[in-house]
Amino acid sequence: MTVAGLKKYLQERGVTVHGYLKPALIAIATAVDKMMLPIDPNFECDNAQEKLKNKLIIHDVVIPDPFTLPTQNNFIDSPPFGLYDIFNHLIYHSSDYDKQGLAAYKAYDDYRLFDDGYVESLSTVTLKECGVHVYVGKVNPTMRTKTDDGKEYYDLWFILEGKGANRGSLLEAFCKCKGGRDGGCKHIGAAMYSLEALVNTEGKDSVTSGECQWQRRPRSSIQPCEVKDINISRPVYGETNKKRKHDYVWLQDIDHDPREERFRREKSHEDMVKFTESMKTKVTTKIDNINDEPAIFPLLRKLYLPDEDPRAPSLVETC
Ligand SMILES: [Zn+2]
Repeated sequence: MTVAGLKKYLQERGVTVHGYLKPALIAIATAVDKMMLPIDPNFECDNAQEKLKNKLIIHDVVIPDPFTLPTQNNFIDSPPFGLYDIFNHLIYHSSDYDKQGLAAYKAYDDYRLFDDGYVESLSTVTLKECGVHVYVGKVNPTMRTKTDDGKEYYDLWFILEGKGANRGSLLEAFCKCKGGRDGGCKHIGAAMYSLEALVNTEGKDSVTSGECQWQRRPRSSIQPCEVKDINISRPVYGETNKKRKHDYVWLQDIDHDPREERFRREKSHEDMVKFTESMKTKVTTKIDNINDEPAIFPLLRKLYLPDEDPRAPSLVETC
């Protein structure tokens, strides 16, 4: 096999081949052959169009590309759609979700995208002849201002069942981002949360008036901007915003003893001997629930009861 052939063989299996000579390439290829690595592990050469076509066959009817459909911002015909429909879809299509994860769904990226106003638009069309509801949305990319393809938004669609007992459950979903081909990306999740919020809460007021319009959620000021546009200020030395009510007094300048008059007197040696003796009684007889010897006790005993401390017989002499 030629070097080019070896490189192609390895590249198809997702193995990096830069900077190797032929003997090394042969060794790697032999090892890879033994491992039976799958071809195109990252689905980069996947025929997206072919997959998309298969996705759009629902109830044995071919549905036109949702991006070409005339969708409207009127959700009055939307079927019942709830969190359980979203979870039902995500638990099968997103590796992030499991039973525990669902309990904390508000902490996930897709919910955050929705809640933070990254869903840029959402519109719908009902295909009565196919018995489905099609939703088309745009979601802003996080972290960056542009998508992988250099666009402003990720275009996506999802299709809900329009008839029968499963009315409102998710049939298919697609997003133009890398992870969205199998319908499990965070943009689709965000768009679904957005629809859920519309039909279950925001829509309630407007249903009576005959319209049920999707509105973009306000987005907090998290848009990236240039450093020069950020308003950064710091306190200037010598300029206080608020004048102090009192002049600042350093701790060592405070000439005031907050203790009561009777406690202010310095303890004499006798006082300390008395105190240590009473402490010793309490420690040895374990009254007052003193279970462990107070850490200060050995020191006090050494200082004030040296005669009784077998560990410090020489203290008196040295003093
Ligand atoms: Zn996506």
